[in-house]
Amino acid sequence: MNIFTKNINGSSSISPKPKAGNGSCWREFWEKRTGHIINPFALYICPGCGDNVYGKDVFGCHVKKIGCQDDSWYIVPMCQKCNNKHDQVFYIDENLLTPVND
Ligand SMILES: [Zn+2]
Repeated sequence: MNIFTKNINGSSSISPKPKAGNGSCWREFWEKRTGHIINPFALYICPGCGDNVYGKDVFGCHVKKIGCQDDSWYIVPMCQKCNNKHDQVFYIDENLLTPVND
């Protein structure tokens, strides 16, 4: 199911890296949690903008669900452009979200 999410402004300074043992970056964190490995040399469709992007250029982007009570932070793999669009709203597949704290 697709849901509305919002890019969290300032997440990189509040939460620059996953906790020890959870991956060296947020993309790796997402891979560890979901069990899906992002091939650096394969093309992916960015769920945020629909652009084709190589796996090596995919970022673990911090988002929050909007229009609901859930105030948790989630990671979604998206392109750098989307990762940098602060406060941007993304309508994306809920299955792509993995919680930052669980
Ligand atoms: Zn994108």
